[in-house]
Order: sequence, then C-alpha cells, then structure tokens
Amino acid sequence: MNYHVDERGYFGNFGGAYIPEMLYPNIEELWENYLSIIQHDSFQQEFHQLLRDYVGRPTPLYFAARLSEQYRAKIYLKREDLCHTGAHKINNTIGQILLAKRLGKQKVIAETGAGQHGVATATVCALMGMECIVYMGQLDMERQRPNVERMRILGTKVVPATSGNMTLKDATNEAMRHWINHPTDTHYIIGSVVGPHPYPDMVARFQSVISEEMKKQLNEIEGNPYPDYVLACVGGGSNAAGAFYHFLNDEHVNLIGIEAAGHGLTSGESAATTVLGKPGVLHGSKTLLMQTEDGQVEEPYSISAGLDYPGIGPQHAHLFETGRVQFLSATDDEAMQAGIELSRTEGVIPAIETAHAIAVLSKIEFNPDDVVVVNLSGRGDKDLETYIRWGKY
Ligand SMILES: *Cc1c(COP(=O)(O)O)cnc(C)c1O
Repeated sequence: MNYHVDERGYFGNFGGAYIPEMLYPNIEELWENYLSIIQHDSFQQEFHQLLRDYVGRPTPLYFAARLSEQYRAKIYLKREDLCHTGAHKINNTIGQILLAKRLGKQKVIAETGAGQHGVATATVCALMGMECIVYMGQLDMERQRPNVERMRILGTKVVPATSGNMTLKDATNEAMRHWINHPTDTHYIIGSVVGPHPYPDMVARFQSVISEEMKKQLNEIEGNPYPDYVLACVGGGSNAAGAFYHFLNDEHVNLIGIEAAGHGLTSGESAATTVLGKPGVLHGSKTLLMQTEDGQVEEPYSISAGLDYPGIGPQHAHLFETGRVQFLSATDDEAMQAGIELSRTEGVIPAIETAHAIAVLSKIEFNPDDVVVVNLSGRGDKDLETYIRWGKY
C-alpha cells in the first residue's frame, strides 16, 4: 500500500489540483520545481540550521511520568509547543519561505483563521525581509485581536476578508484571488496539508521533521525507534501528517488522528470530517468534506479555532479510507477538561487543539508497557480567553 503522493498528485482517490485556469502557471511552477529545490543539499542545510538555531529544534520528547501512571502506559509528549511562536506551524513556514526565495519571489501572501499560521508566516517574512500580506476574515480579526497585532508588529499587512461568513474560507478565497493577479513575484504560503498538489505533500515533508526526531529520540530512550501509538489532533492535518510521516509503512505502529466533535457528533455543530464528510472538492483538492445533500460546504464548529475546518487534507482522507489511521474525536467539554488535566498533572497548559488529543487517552485500552507518543502541537497561551470563559477549573 502506498500512503504517499503519486506522480499525478493523488493519495489513492484523493488529492489532485482542482484550480481555476488562471492559477495553472503558479501551480505548475511549484509542481515542477518543489522536489528538486527542497531535496537539494543547500536547501536541506539552510532549513535544518534555521530549525535548530531559530525554531529551537529538536523539540524534546518528554516522558510524562504522572500522565503515564494515570493511563497505565508509557506516555511521551513531543513538545512542539516549545517551538518559536508556540506551535508546529513554523516548521512549514520556514520551509516555504526558503522555497519562495529560491523561486525568486519577493512577496508572500497567506490566509489565516485564528491567526496562528498568519503569525508564523509574518515571523518568517520578517526574518527574510520579505513583504507579506495576510488575508483574514473580518470576523476572525475581531475575535483574534492579539494575533492581528502580532502580525502588524512583525511588519505584515493584515487585509480583512469581508465576503461570506468573513472567516477562514473567505480569507482563502481572497488569497487565491490575489495570487491569480500577482503570479510572478508572489508565493502563497498555505498553512496546512490542504490545497492543490503539491501543497499537501510539500507541507507534510516540512512537518515530517517531527517524526524523524521522534524515531531518533525513542531509539535513544527506549532502544527502539518504533512506538506502539502516535496520537495527533487533526484540523487540516499538518501536525498529524508530520507526526505520522516516518511511521506510515510500519503497520505495527498504531496511528490515531483526533478530530473535534464540538457539541457532539450528532449535534450539527462539530468538525468531525471523517465521520460526517463525503468526497468533494475543497480549496483545490479532492478530499472528504462536510457538505449538504446538494454539495454546499457546511459550516464547521469547534471551540478550538485550529480544528474548526470543514475538511481534512487529502492524505488523511486516504489514510482514513485505507484504515491505516484510526480517527477518534473529542467534544469541546472533553478537550477543555483534558487541557486542565494536563496542566495539573504535568505543568503544561496545552493549546485547545492539542487538548483534543489528550482527551482520547481515556478512550484507548493500553497495555502497561505500550509506548505512546502524543504530539503536543502547541501551547495554550493563545487560548487563555477560552479557558477563562469555560471557567471550570
Ligand atoms: C493550527 C493548529 C492545529 C491544527 O492544524 P493542523 O494542520 O491540523 O496541524 C493544531 N494545533 C495547533 C496548536 C495549531 O496551532
């Protein structure tokens, strides 16, 4: 079974590049050049040097003793929350800014929902002295003021998207439109393993440093590079894709993706795409997405802005369809409780996205000697308001 992209840009039945004709030149340029650029020695050297000196990699693989005692397994936390800017997203933006430079681009655009990817993009643009525009739904700009100001401090121009619901989907449309009008001097940094080929494969490759490090670290600590379980939350799926990448062909490693069940799977207010989604086309690729009978994209819901997305990346759709990855879910309440629990047992306040992964530890029957790695995708500082509003601590 092949879990990686084929030469047509597909993962099994999913993927491809479903784009307006006006975008062909941009996508073709990337499709033809991305592999030779990112596999080049000088690229790899600069990428890994920045990951080390700027991002702070390798991130620790931390044995969580008290959590392990509670769930009767050997639980490790892969500490992506300790990356510069507080989450895994910077691994991808570092990779893409280096790619943009080698393609001769002078400007960068990005879309953002909660603002985390926008901040990671604004950060690398400041680092490289590149001009940056981030599109953000007007409603999201009001809800995520601190991240808007972070981007502005970093020198990025934040442009409100005022169409539709004025959220992530509309910001993505505006970014695409901008790119069509500025094809030669601008690179579009997509923030997850979504979008037309080659983005899903390219972003997964940049994030795969997570599982590369895990293997090395497990080998040192446990004398065996293979864990029994890897757990990661799935919004678009980039932190999960990176955490699974180097284990995909080792079928004895159980891979578990965790989606947001919002107010409950049957409540009409969730973002559990593998449970509720059907094949369709979203943001340039064929994948699973939540849609109405007549194919209109359904509004997703989750307490966590990073998981509040109506689709998943095409590789995850394939991993779900083939059964290679098992998908579980956690509700808002389960995630919030798990976030408080991790804070109290390990002294780590997780992002609410990440807390969804912690929440399913109680739903899996482990053996006492099972080695379990939870990808701790981000830290909870950005979510303080949500913790306070939830209040039960
Ligand atoms: C954005 C984000 C996610 C969700 O995005 P993926 O592409 O699914 O990884 C998860 N955790 C954190 C901390 C995030 O910022």
